[in-house]
Amino acid sequence: MGTFFIEFRDPLFSVIIFFALVFVITFSSYWWGRYKSKEDSKNLDKFLRQFRTLPSKNELQVLISSGELSEKSWLLLAHSYTQNGNYEKAIEIYNELLKSTLLHNKKETLFLLGKTYFKAGFLERARQIFLEILKKSPRTPQALEYLLLVYEQMRDYKAALEVLEPLDTLGVDTKQEEAYLHSLMLLSNANLTNDEKALKLLDIYNKTYQLTYMTFEFLFKVDPKLAWQHFDSSKSDLLADILWGLEAKNLDLDIISKNSFLRELYSARGDVTLAQTSSNFELDILINLQQTKLNATLHFEYSCECCKHVAPFAFHRCSFCHAIGTSKVEWSIVKDYHKDFSEENNSFQ
Ligand SMILES: [Zn+2]
Repeated sequence: MGTFFIEFRDPLFSVIIFFALVFVITFSSYWWGRYKSKEDSKNLDKFLRQFRTLPSKNELQVLISSGELSEKSWLLLAHSYTQNGNYEKAIEIYNELLKSTLLHNKKETLFLLGKTYFKAGFLERARQIFLEILKKSPRTPQALEYLLLVYEQMRDYKAALEVLEPLDTLGVDTKQEEAYLHSLMLLSNANLTNDEKALKLLDIYNKTYQLTYMTFEFLFKVDPKLAWQHFDSSKSDLLADILWGLEAKNLDLDIISKNSFLRELYSARGDVTLAQTSSNFELDILINLQQTKLNATLHFEYSCECCKHVAPFAFHRCSFCHAIGTSKVEWSIVKDYHKDFSEENNSFQ
């Protein structure tokens, strides 16, 4: 019997025990390592998941009331949400902050809430917030300016004009705003004919010498003859896109022949041959391309002279900085797909 078992004093027994121990330790440390890395990965996923999903309204309520983060941190977070277009979350933060009794900057937070409501398109709520600020602090020009913008967006131009009075008493220059609001009110008046609107718009323009683009955009649309009569050649480049889009039958060749920019512009379009070159790069290329009959035209975009924001469409008030009449038209050469399309259609006839 004894021959089948190794005695514990036998050196071979010690060797077997040693290797068994090595095996158990290696095996358990391997599995422990795998288990740990799995747990670490799970924890990291759990941690990162918090940032993929935004905190719910209830979570925000608990977090803000606990006071773990400072007021400034919450305001910065709300600002960052607004910058990213998540107005809903920013509004939730502002509303929760306003519920807190420990809030130091109540007026400023209310103003930020009003601004966010305005940006998100909740005009009535924005109006109420700005009126609430003005009830307690009537000498707040920023709130008045936003209230004016709210009324303008609501197309309540009469109410917007009423806001100008307190702004004026606070020393804010409101002449341009006044002319702009009167012009908007005029253009939206359904009881006036286009001819009446054109004359009244011209009247505002002649008194203020502002809103050139807005005035001539409407005049060239409804009465090109009247527009040319009152056309100020020195402002031709401001209206380059409107002039470029005019139908050939509506051109006034007398005026065009007397102004160098207009000569170059319409020579580049191919209506006249009154300029051989231009100091403007794009117009110069288009004038030279006239002989080759290559399909090219001008493409326009608009930048705000105040904040440099670029838009694909002309604007009278910048949607970013809210300045009036700061739109600057810029042009580049593109392929004339419209001409290509008309030529293709004609070839099938
Ligand atoms: Zn701007």
